[in-house]
Amino acid sequence: MCAFRLKIRAFRGMGDEVEASRSVLESVYDLRPDIDLREDEEASKFLEVPRSQVNALRYIDYLRRDVEGGTFLIALTRLDLFVPGLNYCFGVAMEPVAIVSTYRLSIDADRERYSLRLKKEVSHEFGHLLGLNHCKDPSCVMYFSNSIKDTDNKDYRPCKSCMKRVVDSLTLRLRFVT
Ligand SMILES: [Zn+2]
Ligand SMILES: [Zn+2]
Repeated sequence: MCAFRLKIRAFRGMGDEVEASRSVLESVYDLRPDIDLREDEEASKFLEVPRSQVNALRYIDYLRRDVEGGTFLIALTRLDLFVPGLNYCFGVAMEPVAIVSTYRLSIDADRERYSLRLKKEVSHEFGHLLGLNHCKDPSCVMYFSNSIKDTDNKDYRPCKSCMKRVVDSLTLRLRFVT
């Protein structure tokens, strides 16, 4: 019995993206997320009109208030994200919620590359939810992507030492079942 629940939340039209996310969480972390499909693109509530980007901090704040205890939530959006001080970001994590944007992942990418990039971003943000920080190894999924090139160059899996932290974090969470 798992001591926490993992949920993917996305607009109904993002079936392929939800499937890619589900598959990376299962293959890397051995977790089977619940899927929560929405009728609308809820991030659009936090769109800031002059820049046509979603304020990720406001969106994450909204999601954090909506999430049940003991649940990790990964929300996918097709809209572009920014956080104050950064022109854009691929994703943001603030326990227990992470947001991943697909907006910039399709640039110069065929379906396969797009899907792989999304897997990397989802795996990266989930690593943050487990308490992992950025890693100096450019091939590790926890390497910080300053640009899409960094994402292309890294793996969707954590390096050996990050994977050890993942296992420790998951073990700790699974041990405290009440
Ligand atoms: Zn990061
Ligand atoms: Zn690493």
